[in-house]
Amino acid sequence: MKPIIGITMTTNNGQYCINEAYVKSVLQAGGIPVNIPFGVESDAEQLLEGIDGLLLTGGVDVHPHFFDEEPHINIGDIMLERDEVELELTEAALKKTMPIFGICRGIQLLNVALGGTLYQDINSQYEHTPILHKQNARRKEASHYIEITKGSKLHESIGKEKIAVNSFHHQALKKVPDIFEITAKASDGIIEAFEIKDYPYCVGVQWHPEEMAIAGDEHAKNLFKSFIDACVANKQQNATVVS
Ligand code: MN
Repeated sequence: MKPIIGITMTTNNGQYCINEAYVKSVLQAGGIPVNIPFGVESDAEQLLEGIDGLLLTGGVDVHPHFFDEEPHINIGDIMLERDEVELELTEAALKKTMPIFGICRGIQLLNVALGGTLYQDINSQYEHTPILHKQNARRKEASHYIEITKGSKLHESIGKEKIAVNSFHHQALKKVPDIFEITAKASDGIIEAFEIKDYPYCVGVQWHPEEMAIAGDEHAKNLFKSFIDACVANKQQNATVVS
């Protein structure tokens, strides 16, 4: 049985939308994608009964009030409805140790959900000189290197200590709660991945593996595969508990 993967969405001009790369990369890795709209926050726990893994997707900036800051002048678009549903889903998923994969905004949301903070705008707030994190190259193309911590789940799935990734973010993780292990950084020190130690699978990445996976990149495909494998294991474990 394939695992069902809940994928968060966004809205644009009154229409729900999702970048097809998320859906295709889940399909490619052997999952069944379903999209989760806004407004289900009070039913998050029940909704999670019907899925085996949660994919937090990229998108607009998280409202800075969720990490006790006022908006910086260079903050981007924010969407409170989306923050509310994704924060509830994340909290409920963590409670039942469901596999979670956070991409771009997804890693930032995970960090904020557990008490972390963000650079609201890297270029105006980062203490060091940043490299380019908002690439002009096409979405599937890698633009900067990351160094990956040996022994991490990320390293296990990718199998390399240095890879090149794509980059489309103007925000980044600042203060990271101890529950997370930082597992990858760019050469300027910007955090590019983390995971929760002693948890089946909760991995966040700052780049966009979904774009690279559907273009055939092996590292990105392996990363999605590791998430889907964890969702299969979660599904089997829950089936055992029920029977
Ligand atoms: Mn980057």
